[in-house]
Amino acid sequence: MAHQQLYIDGVWQEAQSKETREIINPYNQEVIATAAEAGREEAKTAIAAARRAFDEGTWKNTPANERGEIVSEIGRLIRRDREELAQLETWDSGKTVEESRADMDDIANVFLYFGGIADKDGGEVIPSPIPDSESKVVREPVGVCGQITPWNYPLLQASWKLAPALAAGNTLIMKPSEITPLTTVKVFKLMEEAGVPAGVANLVLGKGADAGAELAENTDVDLISFTGGIETGKKIMQAASVNMKNLALELGGKNPNIVFADADFETAVDQAMNAVFFHAGQVCSAGARLLVEESIHDAVVEELVKRAENMKLGDGFKEDTMSGPLISAEHRDKVEKYVEIGKEEGAKLVTGGSRPADAELQNGFFYLPTIFTECTSDMRIVQEEVFGPVLTIEKFNGADEAVEKANDTIYGLAGAVFTQDIGKAQDTAARLRMGTVWINDFHPYFAQAPWGGYKQSGIGRELGKTGLEEYTEVKHVYRNTNPEPVGWFG
Ligand code: NAD
Repeated sequence: MAHQQLYIDGVWQEAQSKETREIINPYNQEVIATAAEAGREEAKTAIAAARRAFDEGTWKNTPANERGEIVSEIGRLIRRDREELAQLETWDSGKTVEESRADMDDIANVFLYFGGIADKDGGEVIPSPIPDSESKVVREPVGVCGQITPWNYPLLQASWKLAPALAAGNTLIMKPSEITPLTTVKVFKLMEEAGVPAGVANLVLGKGADAGAELAENTDVDLISFTGGIETGKKIMQAASVNMKNLALELGGKNPNIVFADADFETAVDQAMNAVFFHAGQVCSAGARLLVEESIHDAVVEELVKRAENMKLGDGFKEDTMSGPLISAEHRDKVEKYVEIGKEEGAKLVTGGSRPADAELQNGFFYLPTIFTECTSDMRIVQEEVFGPVLTIEKFNGADEAVEKANDTIYGLAGAVFTQDIGKAQDTAARLRMGTVWINDFHPYFAQAPWGGYKQSGIGRELGKTGLEEYTEVKHVYRNTNPEPVGWFG
């Protein structure tokens, strides 16, 4: 696999330091690529290029429909190269290739959606309360955007930032997670092919504490958009205050999945599995916290344990694989520590809780699907984001207790309600303090609907019309149509 380079001011290049990093396949720890490793110097060069391209270049003044056409073309190129991109994503992240293909379809749709709406907001004339005047509210690009993404949905998270930033006329510097850069590099090649001008979109590969921190701190950056963990989010927010950058934070979650006794049993159990074990639980909106109404609790647990024990872990490229490995040795260590904490806190481990014994899985970072029962809301295993295949189950009686428990968290990213009583479903959804609530489903998201968190799950929204507006400043233009002296000062 080829060596990956940085892309700055329209030129593919090595790091000035000549430093490189090995990119590892988490299924077997094989080195699948090397990548140039940027530090602060390269990030500064990329920021300067983006600044020049914004201040002196043509992108912000390119008619919005033309910008939209280029953004849509990126979406079409992603569709053309779908299989290659899906394979790269599976190599790099370990997720099943079927899932990677679905990601690529979503990603293409994100570019097509933002390309399509790029020219739909022509500003708004508002009624001015002052006689002989006109008022118009328009949106303009924010300027230079720093964008930082995590490793769990490498290209998906990047697309939620790249497409709206470009559609709105900004310039940008993207820093993907240093451990999963491959698909983002490939999409920068597609952006070049689609006609994004030099300097408008720049790519730095490297560590968060160096290249990433520079994006958050540098005063030539006008907006910082970050997806990742809550602790890093706090650092970014603090760094961004140096020049009052616009800020978008998509952070973690500990997402409750509420199953009432009157839910369709088969659907609820099937979706509860999907909610927590999809991509080995490495999903910000994973339904890792199951709340089950007491009368069906034992039946639900029995069914979930049976299904968890039948899950086939393995190579993401094999058709019968249901789940791949965790992303890294360090991340598996973190998951293992949480399982120990759960046991010490008195939660009852009913399945999993260890690495698999299968010989073929010993080189990968695998961990068995794990379920704890007898959990209570005050346990760390219930409150903190494990980001692995670990489900906690709590009992409740009635909607009030379910809502109280579900909202008892610092997070507010997503949640779900399963019941056949639509009135109860809507009432419960209305009382949940979360950016997304699913009724009788788990996980759907799409380009048209906003995504983001309440409380400590983040600030701002990606996707949807709001996702484009995040990349704009609002300007009020007022015109006196009958100018004459006011005479205030004689
Ligand atoms: P992370 O916070 O460790 O890293 C995310 C990115 O930030 C990486 O690119 C990293 O290099 C960079 N980074 C690290 N330290 C930095 C610093 N000091 N300054 C600037 N950049 C820095 O997160 P992760 O482990 O890669 O991802 C997992 C987390 O992401 C989970 O908490 C998950 O919930 C969250 N996430 C949230 C969403 C969402 O939409 N809300 C989506 C996906 C993932």
